[in-house]
Amino acid sequence: MLKWLLIALAAVVLYKLITNERGRKDKDDRKRRERKIAAGEMAQDPVCNVYVDVDSAITVRDGAKTWHFCSYDCRKKFLDKLEAEGRPLPPRPDDEA
Ligand SMILES: [Zn+2]
Repeated sequence: MLKWLLIALAAVVLYKLITNERGRKDKDDRKRRERKIAAGEMAQDPVCNVYVDVDSAITVRDGAKTWHFCSYDCRKKFLDKLEAEGRPLPPRPDDEA
């Protein structure tokens, strides 16, 4: 009987350790992301609202503003939307790189 009690206790302790560790990691990831957003290293994709790394993102220049996209799909949707609004941006050759 005591043996089962100890096993149950050990299982609870182990479970708490694992969930604690995971919670802390999520918090660290969120903090890191928030810091990058604040530093201007990450930008929000205006189509799917995902945050992307500015250095590796697909971009479209709109005058002084640069839009960042997670994929060519999102960029196309964005350009299609601009076109529907009557102000298409010409795709630049270096955007395809
Ligand atoms: Zn996207």
